[in-house]
Amino acid sequence: MRKKIVAGNWKMNLDLTEGAELVNEIFKGLPVLSEDKQVVIAPPYLHLTQTAAQLTGIIDVQLAAQNCHSEASGAYTGEVSASMLKSAEVAYVIIGHSERREYFKEDNAMLAKKVNQVLSNDMKVIFCCGEPLAIRDAGTQNDHVGTQIREGLFHLPVAQLTNVVIAYEPIWAIGTGRTATSAQAQEMHAHIRGVVGGQYGSEAAANMTILYGGSCKPSNAAELFACPDVDGGLIGGASLKASDFLGIVEAMADL
Ligand code: PEP
Repeated sequence: MRKKIVAGNWKMNLDLTEGAELVNEIFKGLPVLSEDKQVVIAPPYLHLTQTAAQLTGIIDVQLAAQNCHSEASGAYTGEVSASMLKSAEVAYVIIGHSERREYFKEDNAMLAKKVNQVLSNDMKVIFCCGEPLAIRDAGTQNDHVGTQIREGLFHLPVAQLTNVVIAYEPIWAIGTGRTATSAQAQEMHAHIRGVVGGQYGSEAAANMTILYGGSCKPSNAAELFACPDVDGGLIGGASLKASDFLGIVEAMADL
């Protein structure tokens, strides 16, 4: 049975003190989760060792990084490799967030290399996909997202898919307050599951966790998570406030 996940992506926010406080606040309010449900926290690189220490012994909450480099090591000033993240007890790495695709010009070929780095260091990938507004308006979002998935992931053998989570994040809904309707989310998630199934078979598709991201908040999380192909959320802005993040975690816990 596939896992349900609520993952918080802090992006480039919070200093070390604020980060430690937020993690403590989240711990205080964390509901009991069944074995098939998990919370993931993705702070900035600088926080990782501090957050890892706070997470010691807390099995319901896993640590994620927001990115890694596409090469194993070398002369890449300012960058962080997947093996460094592994040594900091990181369990998941977000790959292909739309902000990295847009501001850092990360294309699908580079993302495929990053996926390989993460998996070869025994971590899991949260692979982001999603269309800009112009593509949605043109009605070609299924092709756009299908290409992102094919070019970013389909070089993997089926055995590796258990270490991949897909996050569908329509760019027009990220940080805008404009959420995809639950019908739009369900339609795309079912499409993504179909694309995965077409390549890897129905069992692999049924086992794939597919998260929704884009202005998810406590007031809309329950409706989104109730969709049959939505397995939780990747949360940006609302992950920075413990009460909001916990409200979304509660929506998952209630499923
Ligand atoms: C994100 O950036 O992954 C995200 C979903 O952001 P927000 O929740 O703020 O829309």
